Amino acid sequence: MNIKPEEITSIIKQEIEKYEKKIETVDSGTIIQIGDGIARVYGLSQCMAGELLEFPNNVYGMALNLEQDNVGCVLLGSEKGIKEGDVVKSTGKVVEVPVGDAIVGRVVNALGQPIDGKGPIKTTETKPVELIAPGVITRQSVKQPLQTGLKAIDSMIPIGKGQRELIIGDRQTGKTAIAIDTIINQKGKDVICIYVAIGQKQSTVAHIYNNLTEIGAMDYTIIVSATASETAPLQYIAPYAGCTMGEYFMHQGKDVLIVYDDLSKHAVAYRTMSLLLRRPPGREAYPGDVFYVHSRLLERAAKLSDKLGGGSLTALPIIETLAGDVTAYIPTNVISITDGQIFLESELFYSGQRPAVNAGISVSRVGGNAQIKAMKQVAGSLRLDLAQYRELAAFAQFGSDLDKESKKRLEKGKRLMEILKQPQYKPVPVEKQVMILYAGVNEHILDVPVDKIGAFEKGFMEFMDTHHREVGQEIVDKKVISDDLGKRLGDAIEEYKKIFLAEV
Ligand code: ATP
Ligand code: MG
Repeated sequence: MNIKPEEITSIIKQEIEKYEKKIETVDSGTIIQIGDGIARVYGLSQCMAGELLEFPNNVYGMALNLEQDNVGCVLLGSEKGIKEGDVVKSTGKVVEVPVGDAIVGRVVNALGQPIDGKGPIKTTETKPVELIAPGVITRQSVKQPLQTGLKAIDSMIPIGKGQRELIIGDRQTGKTAIAIDTIINQKGKDVICIYVAIGQKQSTVAHIYNNLTEIGAMDYTIIVSATASETAPLQYIAPYAGCTMGEYFMHQGKDVLIVYDDLSKHAVAYRTMSLLLRRPPGREAYPGDVFYVHSRLLERAAKLSDKLGGGSLTALPIIETLAGDVTAYIPTNVISITDGQIFLESELFYSGQRPAVNAGISVSRVGGNAQIKAMKQVAGSLRLDLAQYRELAAFAQFGSDLDKESKKRLEKGKRLMEILKQPQYKPVPVEKQVMILYAGVNEHILDVPVDKIGAFEKGFMEFMDTHHREVGQEIVDKKVISDDLGKRLGDAIEEYKKIFLAEV
């Protein structure tokens, strides 16, 4: 760091002046270096880590490096017009964002300021962006399902309220789509959703906002946006800000779903910031504490004990991989922090299997407890069926002759894969998922052609709605497929199949 002599003289002069004065109430300092959104400030002897600092021109900054003779801070706004020698005041508080009901339905930046042009947010309460995660005693285990409305996920990789489930995959594999569909599926389920966009294109965020508004999902959703055009510090605090807004509701006993899209870009923003602050680089040039950056964020997801209201914060972080490499630094970090991962594959995506979930290596470590029994009954053998199918499909590629039993398994697998396909913005309620999966795993639809499965499913759902409503209702009410219900469901499937096959 090179300090110019005139700056040193001005600092010395200030020191002499201060010596005469009584103790100042406001701690203030002088900028000795500014650039790239980073400032080094001399003075500020009482500064706290993460403290909000007031720069000229109404720009705020956050103190990050507390060094012996200066404080390294990041600017949370434009550094235009701010120069060396300017005065910086401390505010005595750490960085805070507004919280409250008034934020629901709004689009805000990383500091909680509205950016949707709908006027100011009417709330007076604020909370620090960095809060300590709920402790062990205050929690209870995950036990209620958080339905995504996606057959491939709710059946095999179930998510529970309070869980942290990673969505991981290469670029353009439908990662955001899964998160958005999950938000859409919370409609009418009393779950507040928060979508945090980190380093995304502004057009992508606008697109998501429009879609959510159209579907009516913005009524219970908050979008925290720190797009690629914003500075690294804003991208860095955005997920913490979103989490603080969510925790507010969790402590009121409500259920919250938060999506961090995505943490790869968050790690890059943190790396940029740290390198500019001259913190030492480690593996892949990330600073040594990048693991802690993500772990302290994701630890804040929780299912609180009944004594504390039983609220929950479910987190869906997203990570982008390069060429499917899950062993890179940031992906392995986040995999080890979360309670499971949904792995998306480009190959599946391009072959038309969408959502492109690789059921083989996707897991949910705690969500099983949260699954309803009826779903467990149908999904129990699904994983195995699909694993056998994949093995046989690879084998069948060589054109080898398969025995009858293997052929049947292959055909069944093909149909199950077809059932797991699902278009965007079309969540399926859990009872309907159970019914169609029941048809698949119990081999009712082996004689329906593979390319007609989609049409069969659509017609079957309508048929059940008009003729056998009580079956779906019973699954909702009793949450289990009794022998009797199984028989009635099986009969209904056969009944519709006759009609369907006669038509095609
Ligand atoms: P990025 O890496 O750019 O963030 P992503 O992995 O988040 O991409 P999406 O933006 O969600 O991927 O999806 C990529 C494209 O695939 C989009 O055009 C989306 O409309 C389409 N898509 C996603 N899921 C489905 C689906 N289930 N059915 C059909 N199309 C889909
Ligand atoms: Mg995306």
